[in-house]
Amino acid sequence: MGAPSNFILPDGNVQIAFSGGRTSGKMLHDIIQANQPWPADRVKVVFTNTGKERSETLDFVRECEERWGVPIVWLEYRLRWTGAPHDPKNKIFDTGAHSFEVVSYETASRNGEPFEQIIEYFGFLPNRVADFCSHNLKSRTARRYCVASGWKHWTTAIGIRADEPKRILKKQPKERYRVWYPLNEAGDTKHDVSLFWLFQPFDLELLNIDGVTPTGNCDGCFKKSERKRAEFARSEWHHAEWWSAQERKYGGTFDKTTSWDQLHEYISKQGDWLFGDNDALCQRDGGECAPW
Ligand code: SF4
Repeated sequence: MGAPSNFILPDGNVQIAFSGGRTSGKMLHDIIQANQPWPADRVKVVFTNTGKERSETLDFVRECEERWGVPIVWLEYRLRWTGAPHDPKNKIFDTGAHSFEVVSYETASRNGEPFEQIIEYFGFLPNRVADFCSHNLKSRTARRYCVASGWKHWTTAIGIRADEPKRILKKQPKERYRVWYPLNEAGDTKHDVSLFWLFQPFDLELLNIDGVTPTGNCDGCFKKSERKRAEFARSEWHHAEWWSAQERKYGGTFDKTTSWDQLHEYISKQGDWLFGDNDALCQRDGGECAPW
């Protein structure tokens, strides 16, 4: 476990990206502990809701806020077309269309509404190669909020552990912010995260397998293995159906080989179907969807 000094805030404005998972939850806790009194005038803790987060995640974010006494800004992506009429051929360059809204635990979307809006903007479904959802629904939404708050430069704290070295940027972004990885600098691994939550009076109410939360992030995220998505479709088709509805609407699939309807059919007809175990990117490391 890292020393408190690893979590002392850098100078200037700081955005703490809290994904609603155990890893960034520990990061937030340790930063709060190391920085009292809390400098609320220059630090914002941001949770970006995609609308496909688990209800347990939303409960967890609210509980962290209440128990630790630090305000968390709940944000959601919003699509606001600016041109009229909108030209679908050029829409990707119509940056004025992107916006955000500050929401709360009570008003947060729970049926994929922000996610549907970013799909509408691009006109096709995200996938493992074109994962525009994470950038737009999360990091860019948080960035817009920081700019709207009048920040010109800031640091973004991201919860990436020491056992996820491939997720650390080799170079700082050429933008108005730099990225800070306090957990990584502290040498914290998934075992440390797991141990930390073992001794807390509350926890994220999702399965914890040695520091990894297989059902975390968006419920049907296409970076999860076929096996995880099949299990989700089997046990919670009422939530998985949203992914299937998007595939029907846009005539594509989130996964390059199997549609959600096919997955559902395999499970219904053949419960012992051999599913692939291939997670991708953050899901492979058991990490959280937290791009920069
Ligand atoms: S968890 Fe998966 S589906 Fe959700 S925003 Fe991240 S990459 Fe996209």
